[in-house]
Amino acid sequence: MTTLLAKNAEVLVTMDEERREIPGGGLFVRDHMIEQVGPSDELPTDADVVLDMTGQIVMPGFVNTHHHLDQTLTRALPVAQDINLFPWLRAHYRVWARKTPEATRTSTLIGLAELALSGCTTVFDHSYIWQNGSRVDDQIAAAAEFGSRFHVSRGSMSLGESDGGLPPDEICEDEDDVLADSERLIETFHDTTRGSMLRVVLAPCSPFSVTPDLLVRSAELARRYDGVGLHTHLCETLDEERFTLEHFGLRPVEWMETHGWMGPDVWYAHAIHVQPDEIAKFASTGTGAAHCPCSNMRLASGIAPLKAYRDAGVRVGIGVDGSASNDASHMLNEVRQAMLLARLKIGLRPPEGPMTILSTSDPLRRDEWVTARDVLEIGTRGGADVLGRDDIGHLAPGMCADFFSVDLHSVAFAGGLHDPVAALVFCAPQSTTSTVINGRVVVEQGRVTTVDMQPVIDEHNRHAAAMAAGTD
Ligand code: ZN
Repeated sequence: MTTLLAKNAEVLVTMDEERREIPGGGLFVRDHMIEQVGPSDELPTDADVVLDMTGQIVMPGFVNTHHHLDQTLTRALPVAQDINLFPWLRAHYRVWARKTPEATRTSTLIGLAELALSGCTTVFDHSYIWQNGSRVDDQIAAAAEFGSRFHVSRGSMSLGESDGGLPPDEICEDEDDVLADSERLIETFHDTTRGSMLRVVLAPCSPFSVTPDLLVRSAELARRYDGVGLHTHLCETLDEERFTLEHFGLRPVEWMETHGWMGPDVWYAHAIHVQPDEIAKFASTGTGAAHCPCSNMRLASGIAPLKAYRDAGVRVGIGVDGSASNDASHMLNEVRQAMLLARLKIGLRPPEGPMTILSTSDPLRRDEWVTARDVLEIGTRGGADVLGRDDIGHLAPGMCADFFSVDLHSVAFAGGLHDPVAALVFCAPQSTTSTVINGRVVVEQGRVTTVDMQPVIDEHNRHAAAMAAGTD
C-alpha cells in the first residue's frame, strides 16, 4: 500500500460537481486512487510521497481524445507543410508505412512525454498503418513503460486507390486480418475495471479509406464486449463531404449512421462540417466529438461548432491530433486554442443591425463565448465523458489520482494572478512542474522520471530521418 500527499497548492481546481477551486488545497492518495481532497490543513500530514505545491496551480489531468502518436516521426515534413488534408495524407502515407516496431516505441514515448509535460494524463491514440511487423502491442508496451493511462485503438484502412479510396493499395489491410487482430487485442489487453490503465477501441480510419463492410463488422465486434469504443475521423473537410456525397450519395454523418455508427460508444474526430440536425442527432444518440483546433487550423479544415455542441448537450473533448498536423502534442496549448478558435468563429460573422458600441457587460453575441473555465472543463471532464470514463476527469474521493501542477510564479504568469485559473489558459502555455498518473509521479520538477528521454529522442530522430529519406 502506498500513499501520496500533494499539499499547499496556491489553488487546487477540482472540477468536481460543485467546480470547487480550493486556495491552499491538496489531496491525499492511497493506492492509485484519491482518498481526500480539501484544504491542506485538513489532510493527513504524512505519506510515502509528499509533493509541496506551494506557488503552483493543481489541476485534474487532461484527457486527450484524438491523436496519432506515430506521426511524431513526420513532424514539419517539408513536402507537407502548406497543403490541406487530402494532399497532406497522400504526402505522408508511404512515409508512415516505413514505420518499424522500434520507431513505434520511440514515437509513442515521445508523444506521451510531451503530453504528460503539458498536463495530459489519459491518452487516446488512433494509429492506422501497421506494416513491417509494427503492432499496437508496441504502443501498449511503451505506454506501460512511460506510465500513461492509455486508450489505444486498432486503427485500419481497407479501401485503396484502385477501389476508389485515398490511400495506396499496398498499405491497406485485409479486413479479416484487421478484425482478427482487433479481437486478439481486446481479448488480451482490454481492461474495464475502475481505474483501468488500458482500454481498447476499434477505429477504421475514415469514410474515404475503409469499406462499409469494415465499418459494420468493426461495430459488431466492438459491441460484443463491454466498453470497447468506436472511433473514426468524420466531417473533417469539405473534400470528405464531397467524397461521401459523390461515392455514396449521403452526407458523412448519414453514411456512418447507415452502418450503425451512432451511440454512446461512438465518438468522431473533428466533426467540423455538420448541420444543425446532425448536431441534434449526436446529442440524442449520445455520439461524441473530439475537437482538434490546431490541426483544423494547420490543414485549413474549418472551425468545429464547439459552443453549439456544448449547448446541445453533445459529449465533446479536446484532442491534440497530429503529430504531423499540429505539430505539437501540447494539451494545455490545445485547450487554449479551443478557447481562441471558438471566439474567432464569433467574429467571422458580420454584425447585424445598426452600428453600436457594446459594453463590457454586453459584448458581441455574449451567449456564444467560450470561457477559460469552459475549455478546462472540456479538456478534463469532457474528455473523460467522451472516453466513457467516470473515474477520471475531476479530483474527488474515489477518483483516479491523475493531476498536474504548473508554477504560477514565472514570467509567463506575471501580472495574471488576479485569476490564476483563467491565467492558465489566457497566458502562454507552460510545461508542468509535476504530473501524477495513477498515483505515480511521472514528471517531477519539470522532468520525466519514468524514462530517460534523451536516448529516446536521439533514437526517434534516427528513425524519423530514415523514414523521411527521399522526400523533399
Ligand atoms: Zn486524426
